[in-house]
Formats: sequence, C-alpha cells, structure tokens
Amino acid sequence: MFRLAIPLLVFLLAITNSPAAWQVIMVEGRRHVPVEDVSRFYQLPKPTKNGRFFEILGKGRKMRGEIGKREIFINNVKYVLCFPIRERNGSILISAMDVTKIIEPVMRPSLIKNAAPIRTVILDAGHGGHDSGAKGSRGIEKEAALDVVLRAKRLLEQNGYTVHTTRSRDVFIQFPNAIFVSVHFNKSLGGGASGIETFALAPRGVPSMDEENFSYSDLKQHPGHARDPENIALATALHSSMLRQMRLYDRGIKRARFVVIRDIKIPGVLLEGGFMNHPVDGRLIASSQFRDAFARAILEGVSRYRSALSGRRDYQEPSAVASATDKSSVPDLTPAVSATGVPSSLNEAVQRAAEEIKKKAAEKPSPTPNAN
Ligand SMILES: [Zn+2]
Repeated sequence: MFRLAIPLLVFLLAITNSPAAWQVIMVEGRRHVPVEDVSRFYQLPKPTKNGRFFEILGKGRKMRGEIGKREIFINNVKYVLCFPIRERNGSILISAMDVTKIIEPVMRPSLIKNAAPIRTVILDAGHGGHDSGAKGSRGIEKEAALDVVLRAKRLLEQNGYTVHTTRSRDVFIQFPNAIFVSVHFNKSLGGGASGIETFALAPRGVPSMDEENFSYSDLKQHPGHARDPENIALATALHSSMLRQMRLYDRGIKRARFVVIRDIKIPGVLLEGGFMNHPVDGRLIASSQFRDAFARAILEGVSRYRSALSGRRDYQEPSAVASATDKSSVPDLTPAVSATGVPSSLNEAVQRAAEEIKKKAAEKPSPTPNAN
C-alpha cells in the first residue's frame, strides 16, 4: 500500500506542477527542450511558427529565433547562443544549456541565488603600457578605454558607488559586493566591421565565440563559472544600456574565455564599444560625446543590474523604453525602422553610413573581428 502511494503522490505533484515539467529531447548527445516548454514555463503565449522562424509574443516580453541559427532575441536584444536552435519531428528545440545559462537569468534575474547587492564597481581599462590594443587612424584603444573608464568612474561615484580602476594585467583584490567591467574597443581585419558587443564568460562545456567544436579548454572549470547567471544578467543590463546610449549596431551578447573575465570570482563582463578602424565608429570613439554616452551606459547598466537582482527599480533613464513586467531586467529595444530601412535608433552618423556599409557587406563577407 505504502509502496504504491508514494510514487503516486510524486506523480501527482509532478503533473500539478506541470509548468516545471520539461520534455527533454536529445540531439547529438545534448539535452534540448521544445520552445513550447519555454513559453509555458515563463507563462507566455504559445510560440507562433513560420517556416524556420519562431516567435513568442508575451505582454512586454518576446523571444524570437530561427532554426539552425546560433542566436536568439529576447525583447530585441541579441544573444549569441551556446548551441544552435535545432528541429526534430516538427519541434523547434533550444539547448537546455541555453535555457539555464541565458534565458532563465535574463527572464528572472531576481531569482539568481546568492547574488550580492552591488556597492563596488571595478572598472578595467583594456590594455595599457606597451600594449596599445586596437589602432585606428584617430587614436589607440588603450587611451580611449582609459578615458571612458575615468568618465564612468566619475558618474558612478556621483551615484554612490565605490569605484576601483585597474588595467587588464593588474592583479586586483576580490572585493565583496563588487562587479567587474572591462572596457575595450574593437578592430576588424578589413576595417568594415561596425557595432558594439558584450562578452560574458562561456560556461563550462560551451564553445567560445563562433567556434562550433569543443576543445579541451572548453571543459575546464574556471573561477568565473561560479557566477554564470550573474554574468549573463550583467551582460544583459550593460549591453542594452550601451545600445540605447551609444546607438551603434548590435553585434550581440557573446561568450568567450578571456582571462580577465575567466579568473575572477565576482560577476564580470567585457565590453567592446565599437571598432577603432571603422570610419564611422572610429570618428565617434574619438569624440567626447560618444565617450560620455559610453560612460552613461555603464552607469545605467550597473544600476539596472543592481535593481534587476533586487527586484526593484531605483534608476530609470527617461529615454528607456521598457514595458516588461520586470522592466529593469528585460528592456525592450523595439527598433523603429526609417523609410530607407535603417533603424532610426542608430546614431545619425551611423545612419548616414549605413547604406554604404550595407553595400560593402553585400560585396564581400563580413570581416571577422579580432579579439581586441
Ligand atoms: Zn581590447
């Protein structure tokens, strides 16, 4: 009697908690779940499918993606997925890794376990000393990064944060209740690449950047992995603030194992604020207005991250368009598209050059950025 009753009870609990039940489908030895389960779990409407595309349109929360692509848009912020979106027997599947490492901390940052309230920000100016970083005709990365860091430091301190600044090679003390933000600018091989991107540490078992294949180092455990959920929540807050303030092309939130974000025990991200050797990006990066915008983005992102974790909002840019229930965590970046097809959210200088860049991109494949 007892032997039967307990499994029955467990079964009943399982079906009454049905939103938590996931249908797990193995693809190439990796656990995946259908997008229907994702929308049900987050109490969103059923996904609509159109050929290779799916879209989940909730109240102030939306998600879209495409079979075969390694990216997903959550409220129009682009995330580079750990693994591509798959299809099996008519089901569109997302890897369980991406659900736990991207979607969950982005959708419900206030549920991140043991996340410390933020009081201290460690700002890292990329490169330094003999290492100039990326070079453009209007300047060098190490100087631009340091200038942005000093502007951000001033803003953060005015808003009550304690700030420490470092250079990438410095050994720094692990402060409590702190986050780490590394400021960089990019460089591409042909000079044609433009836009901003944000790197969070690739979780254990996930290939970094655009690599599809595993290497031994992908399986190593690093100190930063203890902060996987915070890392992606911090990346979300900072990246969306950068898009709003700096208005450059969105290259997405990506994964990498850069040493500065790999070996730290506090949440950390690496920001790439445009391409030194792109004609438009380079001109903007040299201007104080753009550097101020970058600094404001850091303040806004840090504040958004802090409020997202605490489940309350204590900082809201007037320009921020956010209609999600948890506004501070999932900002809505619905792009307004002009008559020429160029998003009007982009910087004016970028809008002017956008058509030209498009033409160039059509002529040759988009150049791969260096890890600068
Ligand atoms: Zn760099």
